[in-house]
Amino acid sequence: MRELTVQLGERSYPIYIGEGLLDQAAFYFDKHGIGKQSPLLIVTDEQVGRLYLDKLESGLRAAGYRTVSAVVPAGEQAKSLSQFEELITIALKAGLDRKSAIIALGGGVVGDLAGYAAAAYMRGIRFIQMPTTILAHDSSVGGKVAVNHPLAKNIIGAFHQPAMVLYDLATLRTLPPREVSSGLAEVVKHGLIRSAEFVAWIDENADKLRALDPEALGYALYFGCRVKAEIVSQDERENDLRAILNLGHTIGHALEAVGGYGELLHGEAIAIGMVGAARIGVELGAPREVYEVTKRVLAKCGLPVRLPAHFDTDAIMDAMRHDKKFKEGRMVFIVPTAIGDVVIDKNMSAERVRRIVEQLKE
Ligand code: NAD
Ligand code: MG
Repeated sequence: MRELTVQLGERSYPIYIGEGLLDQAAFYFDKHGIGKQSPLLIVTDEQVGRLYLDKLESGLRAAGYRTVSAVVPAGEQAKSLSQFEELITIALKAGLDRKSAIIALGGGVVGDLAGYAAAAYMRGIRFIQMPTTILAHDSSVGGKVAVNHPLAKNIIGAFHQPAMVLYDLATLRTLPPREVSSGLAEVVKHGLIRSAEFVAWIDENADKLRALDPEALGYALYFGCRVKAEIVSQDERENDLRAILNLGHTIGHALEAVGGYGELLHGEAIAIGMVGAARIGVELGAPREVYEVTKRVLAKCGLPVRLPAHFDTDAIMDAMRHDKKFKEGRMVFIVPTAIGDVVIDKNMSAERVRRIVEQLKE
């Protein structure tokens, strides 16, 4: 078992990473002051619920917790205001009060939705993240919670830090291979922004990661969470530094939108985006290995490193223009300067990005 702390003064919280934590949830809840008087609401999706809900609920009940559960459809469409309202209805009917907690058992979708419900219910109750995807090593740490609006993703949200992250690696064994690779994209990202040694380690161990080797995966998720936690500790509300976590995301978000949030998974889109960012970095003076290593490591993780040719460059640039940070042909862009290092360019030319997007199809 590995343990980390997200340092945020009185809102600091632990991250536990290990095998079998689902069975020990009651122990950790108790240890961190989650009382047994008030009911807990477990939020999960249909797929994760089928696999793990009974196990979690029966363990908690055996220890004397009262639980109620809400099972939402699997997939991005569950991050909606109507699902949010449904969770509030369930919480009210079950009598959740200010001492209750909402537990997110699932991937980033469940974490974002349940977290937003916890942020809003009675102006904020406690919230526990129990991530079940690799990608959720990223989404479960840092306190950004949100639902989508039909016109914009993640636009209705809050900063609401969890009370704890309980990451049971055993649950990852049922993930489809494509979701494994997608999640590894964010692991690689955490290396690319902060640690050349870690990127070299992934380069050596990508096969083990894809095969979900427990030791390799435990280390990779620990390291990824550590990078995220350190950055969030320094800049919780993205005034500046936290923006480096958006490496690959300017292009990546546009690709997800143009693909209708279905053709490319989030990690796949940002993998292509990170290759684009690396190309820009090299154009601006970074050593060529920044591009070569980025591309090689992502490909080893089973991720796409080229843009499918049918993606329309104009549509991609249009999608980027909807980004909050886009002004008069200029945008904020995270640029690699070396493996393990990036800078925030607040004045990136859209023309340059456009040219790189075109080149990503080659
Ligand atoms: P997800 O939650 O949709 O999970 C992916 C799929 O895997 C789903 O179909 C789910 O049912 C299934 N699944 C989950 N765990 C499983 C398991 N253990 N076994 C078998 N199947 C399992 O997607 P995700 O990739 O985890 O998260 C993506 C979401 O995270 C997006 O909505 C994105 O906006 C959000 N996100 C948020 C942050 C943040 O800081 N809050 C950061 C990154 C991403
Ligand atoms: Mg991301």
